[in-house]
Parts: sequence; structure tokens; C-alpha cells
Amino acid sequence: MQISEIMAERGHEQVVFVAEPKVDLRAVIAIHSTALGPSLGGIRFWNYPDEGTAIVDALRLSEAMSLKAAAAGLDQGGGKAVVQWADPSRPRTREQLEVLGRAIDELGGRYLAAEDVGATTADMDGIARVTPWVTGVSESLGGSGDPSPVTARGVLAGMRAAASERWGTSSLAGRHVVIQGAGKVGAALARLLAALDAQVSIGDIDGNRTAALATEIPVAVIDPASAITTECDVFAPCALGGVVDAESVVTLGCEIVCGGANNQLAGEEIDDRLAARGILYAPDFVVNAGGILNIAEEFRGYARERALAATERIEATTQRVFERSREWSLPPGRAATRMARARIEEEPFGRGRWEPGDPTAWTDGQPLTRVRP
Ligand code: NAD
Repeated sequence: MQISEIMAERGHEQVVFVAEPKVDLRAVIAIHSTALGPSLGGIRFWNYPDEGTAIVDALRLSEAMSLKAAAAGLDQGGGKAVVQWADPSRPRTREQLEVLGRAIDELGGRYLAAEDVGATTADMDGIARVTPWVTGVSESLGGSGDPSPVTARGVLAGMRAAASERWGTSSLAGRHVVIQGAGKVGAALARLLAALDAQVSIGDIDGNRTAALATEIPVAVIDPASAITTECDVFAPCALGGVVDAESVVTLGCEIVCGGANNQLAGEEIDDRLAARGILYAPDFVVNAGGILNIAEEFRGYARERALAATERIEATTQRVFERSREWSLPPGRAATRMARARIEEEPFGRGRWEPGDPTAWTDGQPLTRVRP
């Protein structure tokens, strides 16, 4: 399928290519929707096998960000940047971040950058040198820092709702949770679950991460390849997307799927297949909204307590999704998508409802990008 066909079908507004051979940087920025507000979404540094895969990833991830913001009740749209990055251990240079930052700057606030897989707060700080349209910068620079711990809090809130729905109690004590990925979100989720006396198993393709975590909290380190098939109460995908696909949906050994990764299901039909197997799916874009709720607080003058309070409400939002799912006889992923899309489509102003960003409108280090009709 042509890229423009995907854009037309899924409602993407804009895709921007960035290529600067002088600093060896190639990136794609996708803006899915600005109907509810400027598009907000992380920058992913990843070693993509080819350009087509990177573009499709940016398109899918940006759409998921629109749904996530809408489901979380935020007046934000969805965007995403992906950067071709061969070696995850190699940090970005100042020049590379400036090239990326200038490309973001040229979008004038239509895309607000944040952290995603492979990115760090230092990257956001580097980008902030050349554009105000970046969130998640260091707290010392007026930002909210790494959103991952808040994301993990939201996943836990969603997991409580799923536990109530499945077992009639939100308690996770004694439940066996298998986490795939011991990165920023996975490790933070493991810490929260261990503190609640859940039984945590965790696998990561980077054995150093799981080994480090195991010295800190009681977790069982498992083979990352077997994470998805391990018998457990909850499977928590916290690595990359597409982990539950036509093959793995058959072998899943859990009662609930609830994790932080974006786009966990390889396709919408997997939602039906999970339901058919009696596995409760807590939609990823609903439960992993803590990070975006945290970042959005930057626009109001960052207050961590407010961000955490908003994140705790993910439990109620997830419950509402399960209620609608029953009411509409739809699996939870489809029900949540319908709920989020309704918000975006009800928006009478459509694309570009907000006024082009004015970087000088940043007060006290916070951006003012939202213009209400
Ligand atoms: P991260 O880069 O810190 O961690 C990802 C981890 O997954 C790494 O340790 C990596 O080695 C591991 N991994 C990759 N492939 C794997 C596999 N096949 N099996 C096991 N482990 C594997 O990224 P993160 O910030 O923790 O994000 C994790 C997921 O959560 C991503 O899908 C991201 O889009 C999503 N997410 C993150 C945030 C956030 O606040 N950071 C917010 C919302 C959603």
C-alpha cells in the first residue's frame, strides 16, 4: 500500500522526512491528528530494517497517540518521530539533536516531541536547545523529566481495573505478572508490583537490565523469548509493539494482557481473538497514558501531584472501557477505539483547530499551545 493511501485511510495529516548526511541522521515525523490540539508524541530511536518499516511505525504510533490523548480526556493530538538508529548504546551528538530539533521547530508547534523507546531526557534537553516544542526536558530546565515512572503508575492503575473485572478484586498481591522488557517502563512497573507483593517475572533481550533489576527487587529473570508463553495471571508487554500476533495469541499463557508497550496487538482482529480465548485485554493506549498525562501537565505549569492524580484516574477509564465493551458486545480494544474516535470526530473544528504555536508564549518555561474556540 502507498504511504499516502495509509494516510488517507487512517486520517493522518502530515509526514515529514528528515535527512542530514553531514551528521548521519535520518528521521520521519508523523502527525496523525491536531483536531483536539497540537500533536504530542515521543521520539523513538530504533534500528529499522528498512525505511518502509520506519514510516509505517511512525504512522501507527502517531495514530495510537491520538487515540491515547483522546481516551485520556486530553486536548492533544497524536504525533510521533522515529529516528533510524543502528546502535542503541551510542548516544546522540549535539549536532544530531540540533538537526532533529530544527525539523521539529519548523512544524511550529504542530508536533510536540517527547521521549520514547531509546530516547533519554538528555536527548530532550539537546533538542530544547533549538526548539521550544519539546516536552520531558530535565526538571532543572523547567520540564517534567522522564515520564516512564508515571507511565508505570498508570499501567498499574489499568491492571487494578482489569483485576477487578476478571477476579472481582483489584488486589494484585500474590498474582503472577510476567513483564516483557525491563526498560524504563518495565522496570518501574516491576518495582511497583513487587512493592504490592505480586510475584514478578521479567525478561529482556538485554540481560544486563534484568540482572541489575534482580539485585534491587525480588524478581524472577526469565528468557525473553518465553515471556509471552509463560503461565501467569497477567502478561505485561513493556517492550515493542506487535507482540500479540496471529501466532502468539494462540500460545499466550495468561488471563489478562495489560502493559505499557504501544501497539501491543499486531492488528485489530487480535482483539477479537483474545476475547474469543477468554483473555481480558486492557487496551494499551488507555493504560499507558500516564506518560502523556504527565507531559501535558507541563502546559499548565508542571505539578507532579496533579499528574499523578490524573494518572490514577486511568483505573476508572479502564473500567469504563470494560463496561462499554460489555454494553456494545465489542472486545475492549475496539470499544476503547470507538470511544476515543468519537471524541476526535465530534470535534467540529477538525485539523488545525488551534492557532500556530508562538514560542514566545512560553511563560515560566511552559508552552501555551492550546487555543480554545
Ligand atoms: P526502553 O527503551 O527504556 O525499554 C524497552 C526495553 O525493551 C529495553 O530494555 C529493550 O532491551 C527491551 N526489549 C526490546 N525488545 C524486546 C523483546 N523482544 N523481549 C524483551 N525485551 C525486549 O523503553 P520504555 O520507555 O520502557 O518503553 C517501553 C514501551 O512502552 C514502548 O513500547 C513505548 O512506546 C511504551 N511507552 C513508553 C512510555 C514512557 O513513558 N516511556 C509511555 C507510553 C508508552
